[in-house]
Order: sequence, then C-alpha cells, then structure tokens
Amino acid sequence: MKPRHIDPNCPECGAELVLSDLLDDPDAEEVFEDKWACPKCYDGHGVYMDWPQEQIDELAGRARDAEKHPEKLIPWEEVRHDLYKDMGLTDEEIEEEIKKAEEKTKNMTEEEIAEFQSKVRYLINIK
Ligand SMILES: [Zn+2]
Repeated sequence: MKPRHIDPNCPECGAELVLSDLLDDPDAEEVFEDKWACPKCYDGHGVYMDWPQEQIDELAGRARDAEKHPEKLIPWEEVRHDLYKDMGLTDEEIEEEIKKAEEKTKNMTEEEIAEFQSKVRYLINIK
C-alpha cells in the first residue's frame, strides 16, 4: 500500500513512507489510511497526511484567512459543544464532559501538556 496523493517517499531521507499507526503498533486494530510516516525519521509524532492537494490548499487558505481575521475563528468551546451535540449528548451531559476535561487539564503538569500537544501536531507534506 502507498499514499495516493502525496510523495510516497520521506522528504527528509527518501525512505518509503509507511502507515503511522503500524509504526506505533504493528498489531494495531485501528489504522488510519491517510496517516503516513517515515520508518527512519518518525519519533512518535509528525505524520504526513495523505490528502488531495485541493484539501491541503483549502486548509492552508483557511489558516491564512484565520490569521488575517481572528474574529472569524470559532472558539474551541463552541466547536467542542457542537461535536458533543453531534454525538447525541444532552446539554447536561455536554456540561459534564467539559467540566471533566477542564479538571483533567488543570491537573496536568506543563510537561504533560507539552507531551499531549506534541502528539496532536501534524505535519502536512506539500509536494
Ligand atoms: Zn525519513
């Protein structure tokens, strides 16, 4: 299997990219087919998203737009609220989930927060 939209080789060292979930765990049951990583350079974070160029352009455009018009950004609270609504949670349940998440981050050390953020950081490989 190879990525469909991006360069199948690592831009850093040229090795063939592999699915990042399988690098994390060769027996992984859930494998995302759009997340690729270099078997040599991968250090637990930094994956290449196998997305079509239009999708990357659109994201890049939105990011530029957001920089110029910060007032257009949707607060994370609102996004999260809508996500939970889509999952079928009631307003009370949403309130509860948000409280739980806040408690959790309150108890996290700076290091744990940095660790968490490094895991959610994605690299976009633009050809
Ligand atoms: Zn590499």
